[in-house]
Amino acid sequence: MNISKLFKEKRVYSFEIFPPKKTSPIDTIYNTLEELKGLSPDFISVTYGAGGSSNKDATIEIASAIKNKYKVESVAHLPCIYLTKKNVSEMLEEFKNKGIENILALRGDVNPDIPPQEDFKYASDLISFIKQNADFNTIGACYPEGHTESKSLKEDIKNLKHKVDAGANHLITQLFFDNNCFYYFLEQARKEGIHVPIQAGIMAVTNKNQIEKIVRLSGASLPEKFTNMLDKYENKPQELRKAGIEYAIEQILDLISQDVDGIHLYTMNNADVAKKVTEAISKAI
Ligand code: FAD
Repeated sequence: MNISKLFKEKRVYSFEIFPPKKTSPIDTIYNTLEELKGLSPDFISVTYGAGGSSNKDATIEIASAIKNKYKVESVAHLPCIYLTKKNVSEMLEEFKNKGIENILALRGDVNPDIPPQEDFKYASDLISFIKQNADFNTIGACYPEGHTESKSLKEDIKNLKHKVDAGANHLITQLFFDNNCFYYFLEQARKEGIHVPIQAGIMAVTNKNQIEKIVRLSGASLPEKFTNMLDKYENKPQELRKAGIEYAIEQILDLISQDVDGIHLYTMNNADVAKKVTEAISKAI
């Protein structure tokens, strides 16, 4: 099923998971999936680390299990910067054989120690390639505060328009903690002529160690309300976890009150957190 068409019928609610580390057995994810399925998401997406940090087989196997075993629509992430056209063609064939119909087409982060391949420079190149060579629903990533490599949000949104013109049927945002950034981004994207559905990516931060990494990778700004929460519960992990979940719930309820197209929850493979968030927003979504 083309999950981007769902937006015509409803506000879309989905989860993101990542494959277990190469050293862990893949089965560890299946208990999580069993629980996530019970929360009735519209789809579950599976990440794939560019640059050798994870293996494509795990992403394909898990995305296939989501679809065929758990009977939930799946999205396979596909970062292209370290892939050749031949690699991508082979993966598309595998997706097709496993019944995977939706791809989150990404460039991937550049690892300064590994030179990129030359076939795909941007996610839009990958999307064009998929459109020309296969029949998949393609989704793109977007950045409410601008991508960290872009000079400005304006420039990033112009580039985003190319991605949509290339064939991204809907967009999922990078996580953010300040809804005002999202509302401003949305307004600018619509002004630029980007009219595809945009799902807001939300993550419940449940421990302080996550924060530094998140900020480094995403460039997300931290509003005062959020930093106050971190300071207040600095040495109280249980309270911080509760407050982090509460913060995400409030963010989502506010987004829904503003009629957001959809919510994509970065679960960090934590089904318990996903359950608490989903139960709290289920009437509103
Ligand atoms: P692009 O859309 O190609 O953009 C990258 C940069 O190039 C931006 O600064 C953009 O403005 C600029 N640009 C784009 N087109 C042009 C152009 N034509 N001319 C000039 N500049 C241009 N990474 C993974 O490795 N694995 C994952 O599973 C994964 N999942 C993700 C899921 C979501 C929802 C999000 C938001 C990100 C995810 N990422 C993942 C991270 C992503 O790969 C990085 O953020 C990466 O740096 C950019 O990927 P992109 O697809 O947005 O790139």
